[in-house]
Amino acid sequence: MAKKHRNTSRLYSPSMNEMPYKETALEAGLLPALENGQFLLYYQPKVNIQSGKIYGAEALIRWKHPEFGIVSPLDFIPLAEKTGFIIPLGEWVLRAACKQLKQWDGQGLHDLTVSVNLSMIQFQQKHLVHTIEQIISEEGVDPRRIELELTESIFMDNPGDTLRILHALRLLGVRLSLDDFGTGYSSLSYLQSIPIQYLKLDKTFIHDIVNDYRKQMIFKSLIVIAHNLNMEVVTEGVETAEELAIIKSHQCDSVQGYLYSPPVPPDRFEELYKQQIA
Ligand code: C2E
Ligand code: CA
Ligand code: CA
Ligand code: CA
Repeated sequence: MAKKHRNTSRLYSPSMNEMPYKETALEAGLLPALENGQFLLYYQPKVNIQSGKIYGAEALIRWKHPEFGIVSPLDFIPLAEKTGFIIPLGEWVLRAACKQLKQWDGQGLHDLTVSVNLSMIQFQQKHLVHTIEQIISEEGVDPRRIELELTESIFMDNPGDTLRILHALRLLGVRLSLDDFGTGYSSLSYLQSIPIQYLKLDKTFIHDIVNDYRKQMIFKSLIVIAHNLNMEVVTEGVETAEELAIIKSHQCDSVQGYLYSPPVPPDRFEELYKQQIA
């Protein structure tokens, strides 16, 4: 059946020739998957470096696919962006994260914050701020407990509009975080202008930092810059105790990484949270 569909698509779109079976199937399956509840959120703990305590979680989407098993967002988010499906999908993510936060409140996991990733495609949408406001208020969550993770790609199209949107989001009370800093075309000039509270240093930053003095110095300096601009620094992708020790010595605020935990289903996150207070 899927194969037949694939052959017919070829008639209309020659570029489909290059699209492998899995990709075609994933793209065609996005909408039914949302309707059938096949998307789920995993949560990765965010840990305060000084206290060693979990204070929040980043929501990371997964697709529980009937044929392919758990599919990584790296395999379907680009497809969802290409087709525009990222708009309803992104709304689903935010709503699901809000519901999870409420549920955790009821289970004694207090005062957690939840981070949600926003795609640059969502930024090109006129009603983004209104939509976010509506979802958060419908779900009855304090906006200060929602963090939106953005990448510098949102500045590519129209920096002026983007800035206006960011300020409007700040007025809602949500927190903003600049994700993947240190990759691609990261520029210090963004830090001058954008109203963010958190800077997330990408995992490429700390990869090999243990053996690389220059990397350590850049890391150290960036933390000073961020702190002077009233931002907190989150280091991503921390995998070893040696990395943690270096990060700690340079006054980074918090970490996320396999050292503490990979992204996990909500029930596992609850166990991790409860273990630390036991
Ligand atoms: P990201 O936002 O940079 O998320 C961090 C990624 O690094 C996650 O991959 C996480 O599993 C991985 N990671 C965390 N700790 C470590 C570590 O110690 N070592 C290594 N090597 N990796 C670590 P994941 O979950 O596969 O997500 C990949 C990307 O997909 C995310 O990168 C984000 O850009 C995108 N994504 C995920 N969920 C969503 C979503 O709901 N909406 C949108 N628009 N994008 C999403
Ligand atoms: Ca992120
Ligand atoms: Ca990241
Ligand atoms: Ca990323």
